[in-house]
Amino acid sequence: MNFNFEKIILDNQEIICPNSNQWELIFESEKIDGRTVPLIDLIKSKVIRNSKYSELKSCLTFTFDQIMFIELLEIDSELIRVFVERVICDNCGKRALLSATPGVSDLYIGLENKEKARERGYKHKNLNCKFCDNIYERRYTIWQKYE
Ligand SMILES: [Zn+2]
Repeated sequence: MNFNFEKIILDNQEIICPNSNQWELIFESEKIDGRTVPLIDLIKSKVIRNSKYSELKSCLTFTFDQIMFIELLEIDSELIRVFVERVICDNCGKRALLSATPGVSDLYIGLENKEKARERGYKHKNLNCKFCDNIYERRYTIWQKYE
């Protein structure tokens, strides 16, 4: 199958961002260009979750010739590499419905200038917990949603 993916260049790295139809085809075949996509079930659950939020993009890179899943967050018309999770507050122990952090080293694998890429994420404010209003100390969090 020959996909015509949306391609973006971010931090000098080519990233492909399949649309929802293309993701469906990838989930069916579990392949891209004849290559098996690893951890397809995990990726599928993340793609479905992220699709509920217009500011999150589910994408793929081919770093070191390996297919890797990557999540991007759009803030102020800029795309930031993030790991999407449910951050737990250090202070009150409550959990966000969903949150995003630039503070995971895997996000920067294979980049020529990791520092520059990290800086774009860290220039955004570290948020406060919505429940107790204390700042997240252990997990730098630049986006969050609550139930
Ligand atoms: Zn809290």
